[in-house]
Amino acid sequence: MKSVICNWKMNPASFVEAKRLFDVTKTLAASVKKVDIVVVPPVVFLRELAKGYRGTRVEFGAQNISTEGSGSHTGETAAAHVRDAGATHTIIGHAERRALGETDERVSKKVVRALENKIDCIVAVGESERDEHGEYVQMVRNQIVIALREVPAARFKNITIAYEPIWAIGAPTAPDANEVHQMMLLVRKTVRDAFGDKALKAIRVVYGGAVNEENAHDILSVPDLDGVLVGRASLEPTQLKAIIQAAQSA
Ligand code: PEP
Repeated sequence: MKSVICNWKMNPASFVEAKRLFDVTKTLAASVKKVDIVVVPPVVFLRELAKGYRGTRVEFGAQNISTEGSGSHTGETAAAHVRDAGATHTIIGHAERRALGETDERVSKKVVRALENKIDCIVAVGESERDEHGEYVQMVRNQIVIALREVPAARFKNITIAYEPIWAIGAPTAPDANEVHQMMLLVRKTVRDAFGDKALKAIRVVYGGAVNEENAHDILSVPDLDGVLVGRASLEPTQLKAIIQAAQSA
């Protein structure tokens, strides 16, 4: 079963528009059988969208959570809050958070917080650029190993790694299917080397960065890939429809 994770980022501007976009998304989700859809709206819309949803085809996620459980952390949102609002997932370590200072150590702490609160983690990793010596490979490996170092063996089933090369996020084009496949293999090998075969079997790996209606079929046909994380195209019904259909037929 493929996953389509819809990261709305800081969109849309109002709840009325969010509701409209969600209605389209849930209708598309209901039209396919073999696709998991996770809608990740701005946190302020989460409770209202989740409360109004009666089906089973869509799950909800947060875009970020605090490293802390509760207390004096002005402006932060705890894992318990997003769980209470209806989220079953959270993205952790998105490139746009890392650009604001999120470190691998903080990502690791957030993974622990999420799991403590029964929230599945979508851990985003990816290099900002590719150097000719291949040092980016080690950087991605380190991100994964540090992010998951506190995960108990039995909880790897609650982890999805989203490989998102920063140079493709928000860009016009994605890497080709062969490049995506190479990175899926690298992510899986890293998990096996660091955490063993059971972790490898349990974990899911998705690709994110410039997925759209044109490249969705090729990307979703990559072996060893469990789905896609979609930014811009998740806000466009026609694009989203094509991506969900590609996920269904992959
Ligand atoms: C993202 O922000 O995670 C993302 C994949 O964005 P886009 O699809 O717009 O490149």
